[in-house]
Amino acid sequence: MSFRIGQGFDVHRLVEGRPCILCGVEIPYPKGLLGHSDADAASHALMDAILGAACAGDIGQLFPDKDPAYKDADSMELLKKVLAHPSVAPYRVVNADITIIAQAPKIAPYREEMQERLRAALHCDAVSVKATTTEKLGFTGRGEGIAASAVVLLAGQ
Ligand code: MG
Repeated sequence: MSFRIGQGFDVHRLVEGRPCILCGVEIPYPKGLLGHSDADAASHALMDAILGAACAGDIGQLFPDKDPAYKDADSMELLKKVLAHPSVAPYRVVNADITIIAQAPKIAPYREEMQERLRAALHCDAVSVKATTTEKLGFTGRGEGIAASAVVLLAGQ
């Protein structure tokens, strides 16, 4: 058995007129995340962690933001593609731990639903979604954007 660890990080800007989707769950909020895809920063950090663990590049390479195929793409569908990547498919996810960094909206009411979506997508029970503010400091603290980081452990033969 071999183990591979990976980490990922992502940021998207908060703007009006966009949905606020994190870990595949839409959160009611006056602003949403700007990006070529659905801009789900938490799922993006998770995908980069998985790709990093498998030494398989990053989501910018896999899903270029110039490619119209990924316009408003559902990041949970992109996650399926990441898991099917030839360098990732030989591994299973042992656990995943995500931290969402946002002053607002409040993540806690949606945490269980987020974990459930990711547990199903990853075929893994040990999925953790956490959230923190930055005490009103920096771009996340001013509500200009949301950041997310993720760590994942993969196991394979
Ligand atoms: Mg992103």
